[in-house]
Amino acid sequence: MIRRPAIAYRCRHWDGSGRRYCGTPGARRYLTGYRCPLHTPAALAGRPEPGTPPPGNGPNYP
Ligand SMILES: [Zn+2]
Repeated sequence: MIRRPAIAYRCRHWDGSGRRYCGTPGARRYLTGYRCPLHTPAALAGRPEPGTPPPGNGPNYP
């Protein structure tokens, strides 16, 4: 049995308006640090995550 990765990593994206970290658990590590799917470098740049299909009808996150 393969153990699922621990959900110990939280998104370290700084939410300027909320003056706190995003903190979403289950973040993955990127060049800039741990990021949840909403705050990956690609997502922040307005590009689809490489290697994943673009979302079908998701709202455009500000
Ligand atoms: Zn986040």
